[in-house]
Amino acid sequence: MKRDYYEVLGVSKGADADEIKKAYRKLARQYHPDVNKAPDAEEKFKEVKEAYDVLSDPQKRAQYDRFGHQDPSQGFGGGFGGFDTSGMGGFGDIFDMFFGGGRRSNPNAPRKGADLQFGLSIDFTDAVFGKETDVEIPKEAECDTCRGTGAKPGSGIETCKTCGGTGQQEVVANTPFGRIVNRRVCPTCEGKGKVVKVKCTSCRGTGRVKVRRKIHLNIPAGVDDGAQLRVAGEGEPGINGGPPGDLYVVLRVKPHEFFEREGNDIYCEVPLTFAQAALGDEIEVPTVDGRVKLKIPAGTQTETFFRLRGKGVPYLRGSGRGDQHVKVRVVTPTKLNERQKELLREFASLSGESISGYGVEDEGFFEKMKRAFRGE
Ligand SMILES: [Zn+2]
Ligand SMILES: [Zn+2]
Repeated sequence: MKRDYYEVLGVSKGADADEIKKAYRKLARQYHPDVNKAPDAEEKFKEVKEAYDVLSDPQKRAQYDRFGHQDPSQGFGGGFGGFDTSGMGGFGDIFDMFFGGGRRSNPNAPRKGADLQFGLSIDFTDAVFGKETDVEIPKEAECDTCRGTGAKPGSGIETCKTCGGTGQQEVVANTPFGRIVNRRVCPTCEGKGKVVKVKCTSCRGTGRVKVRRKIHLNIPAGVDDGAQLRVAGEGEPGINGGPPGDLYVVLRVKPHEFFEREGNDIYCEVPLTFAQAALGDEIEVPTVDGRVKLKIPAGTQTETFFRLRGKGVPYLRGSGRGDQHVKVRVVTPTKLNERQKELLREFASLSGESISGYGVEDEGFFEKMKRAFRGE
């Protein structure tokens, strides 16, 4: 006894095409023998497929609605009994679901060449101020001898016999629920659809040769580590006459031994003697522009920052530059002669226990420490 097609798909008699398709896809996925290993899965799958074949075709559906399974009449006689394997319509759906579907586009259509990426190390100061430079990029280029065709000059190119020029090959598998046609790239022509009679000797028939190409680069001022420069048209050559890809030069900025960069600001650290920090001084500080003078006020603490405006990195977009931040580090003297020690002892005794001369804020700092010693 045959089950009602609507019942098989689990839809109402009034279901529209979308509902029917949805129900079918769900069930087909559930019972597909590749997925479902239950012994009756294949039977169920056939039943679902048959129901769908009828209900998805407006004419067949109308006949079925009128006559049901008993219809002896013309038009689709016998069609219901078997599993229709002739049409590709139903298979298309199965393909989309289980094999990713999608037909390959025409292999002879022009395609853009692949983009290339090339890493380039540059110096810290070149990133700050920019630089014009030439680089040699190893890449593939169209073979000059055969102009990229891969054929020896004078010899012909013919349509691939294996695939008839489509670049695809159909592989047919017979399964219990019908013929499955799978497409793959033609192994003879590798999808090109054409084969050469005699291969070009310069490129061994590939149509491409490895070259080192000199490229002029204009590195703009202010680039940072990881920045990419796009050089249009310097990627790999296009396929079937398509445009070439682009070249992306990825910049790696080498670290500097004195400067550190954060965005558009530059950081550095300079040593100060105790005397300079206590008495104040004017010191010279390196910048990317050369030496500049920096006034250190009397009583400067270690790790104080001073800002040198406009001595940082230029902004890539717009004008102006970041700043340079100078951190001073007060260095405690390590090698003292007797006279120096004597003077420091005198200095300490003059400062006395009162710790006057360190300023009010520092008094608080020492007081806090003293309290910590007392365990408060
Ligand atoms: Zn060649
Ligand atoms: Zn072929």
